[in-house]
Amino acid sequence: MRPHARDWLDRHGETPLGVALPATTSEVAAVLTLAREMGLTVTPQGGNTGLNGGSVLSAQAQGIILSLARMIRIHVIDPIGMTATVDAGVVLQNLHDAVGEQGLMFPLHLGSEGSAQIGGLIATNAGGSLAARYGMIEAQVLGLEVVLPDGSVWDGMRALIKDNAGLQLRKLFCGAEGRLGVVTRAILRLHPAPRAKATALLAVADLETALKLGADLRREAGEMLVATEFFSETGFEMLLRHVPALSRPIKANGPFFLLVELASSCKGVDPEATRAS
Ligand SMILES: Cc1cc2nc3c(=O)[nH]c(=O)nc-3n(C[C@H](O)[C@H](O)[C@H](O)COP(=O)(O)OP(=O)(O)OC[C@H]3O[C@@H](n4cnc5c(N)ncnc54)[C@H](O)[C@@H]3O)c2cc1C
Repeated sequence: MRPHARDWLDRHGETPLGVALPATTSEVAAVLTLAREMGLTVTPQGGNTGLNGGSVLSAQAQGIILSLARMIRIHVIDPIGMTATVDAGVVLQNLHDAVGEQGLMFPLHLGSEGSAQIGGLIATNAGGSLAARYGMIEAQVLGLEVVLPDGSVWDGMRALIKDNAGLQLRKLFCGAEGRLGVVTRAILRLHPAPRAKATALLAVADLETALKLGADLRREAGEMLVATEFFSETGFEMLLRHVPALSRPIKANGPFFLLVELASSCKGVDPEATRAS
């Protein structure tokens, strides 16, 4: 049970009474019903890449872990509606690969994408480097299926972008960290894959300049500005010290840096052209 019992940093996690590995929504429902009858806590677990111990048992809890690792089906990729219907256990990288083959993209990139799962990303309302342009994952979740703590299944599997029919209950589950139920399936919004990209690493003298530069870039590049990451010389030096395979890609010493990416999916619109302005 050890890979499930401890978190990614090996800092948190008591030994659970067991690990449930359901393969279907009805099996998740059966686990939750049984756990409720027995008075056990249930901790849902995705890729177990969370960094604050949410995916493992805390010291006080007597309970089980419910891993979504067997629920890995990509059910449908709809290139017309630009949506993907996926099980909660699908690893983000696998979704990227599958939609990429259809000329589409899912706008969420983060360091843990080779392990983090769609259910875990929804439960933590993950952001990643494209968040400034596309928002948190919540903005891409059109529909959800969730097994509630009493074992009933909430079916919110809608695929509409323009949907104002009643309360947007799905939003409650984005960022709830498993407290309101177990996400089992989702309908996600996709976007056309970019045809051209331009990336730049910019050294800046102070924070005011970094903020102004960020705002100027947003004005000049508009929606082509898809990613912005900020880091400091201190962080950079630490990284270079501890990861010998890395080399410094820029001569200037910051002390601050902005890593920006421009991208366009429109024919004939070249992000490189923004360089001039
Ligand atoms: C190298 C690295 C880089 C990272 N970069 C970022 C980043 O840029 N941005 C960011 O936001 N995070 C980042 N993270 C943190 C982490 O990857 C994210 O929080 C991710 O969303 C967790 O997904 P997971 O599948 O691993 O979930 P887990 O870690 O397994 O679980 C996280 C929480 O979600 C709950 N949960 C999991 N699955 C479900 C489900 N199906 N239904 C209901 N609840 C569920 C768990 O109970 C827990 O509370 C990074 C982590 C690492 C290791």
